[in-house]
Amino acid sequence: MSRTRAFVREMGLRDGLQSIKTIMPTATKLDWISREAACGVGEIEVASFVPAKLLPQMADAAQVVAGALANRALVVAALVPNMKGAQNAIAAGAMKLNYVMSVSESHNMANVRRPVAESLADFGHIVEFCKTLPEGKRPVVAGGLATAFGCTIEGPIREERSRELAAELAALGADEVIVADTVGYGNPAAVRRVFAGVRAEVGNLPVAAHFHDTRGVGLANVVAALDEGVVRFDASLGGLGGCPYAPGASGNIVMEDLVFLLESMGYDTGVDVARLIEVRRFVQASLAEEREQFHGAVARAGLPKNYIHA
Ligand code: ZN
Repeated sequence: MSRTRAFVREMGLRDGLQSIKTIMPTATKLDWISREAACGVGEIEVASFVPAKLLPQMADAAQVVAGALANRALVVAALVPNMKGAQNAIAAGAMKLNYVMSVSESHNMANVRRPVAESLADFGHIVEFCKTLPEGKRPVVAGGLATAFGCTIEGPIREERSRELAAELAALGADEVIVADTVGYGNPAAVRRVFAGVRAEVGNLPVAAHFHDTRGVGLANVVAALDEGVVRFDASLGGLGGCPYAPGASGNIVMEDLVFLLESMGYDTGVDVARLIEVRRFVQASLAEEREQFHGAVARAGLPKNYIHA
């Protein structure tokens, strides 16, 4: 029986590194990217194109994108919050733009300093701008909906709002829609409702799930999203990162645990989890001096006896 393909995307170089104090040297970032791509991870969000004064960890975004392109099979993605960021990411050679806006009006104001309606309009402009580029230079444009389940400013978010905004992103020409539980307000029941709604709205457009494990239900949310037909998941090695509003909290769901879960359930991720654990050790060692927190069960426990990577 052929297995269903599932896609895991590494977020640690952006979501992870932006949440910790340490500034990782460019060469170490590129080493991490190559090692993880060699495990079979097909897409990595390598940087964020925001002003360096806001996020000094991302000051080398253009060099990281350019360097990451050396990994032949890898989709080199970059987070962009606006047109300027998109243009810089494209100039650096990014193959995919992950545009971010928040479902929460207050969070969007705090994060990208403008109302949701303005972020939506800008997304449309970015899609139009990309259409003017020659075929080989045109990136895939994903529309990301952050704080889809709630945020630290507004609390829980009305679930229909994600569906409405996903429809708008699709109408504006998104190639993919990403629904993100940025600070861990989701739960499996809400995940089923929100992803069912979003998928009903966007037709055949790929829908990806971006979960944080802030309150320990990240992988349960993955299973709920799988039930709704979602096969694209963001994660970070060792769950690197955290939450600026909750010191000590975990970050993205843990990449190696996610791969183990998917493979165990019969999905084909194309990723070698044993090698992934070695890359985690490399990243952990490179951040050892600063004692950054790493999470995850599989790396601690090891793989089960006679575990065979399919
Ligand atoms: Zn995130």
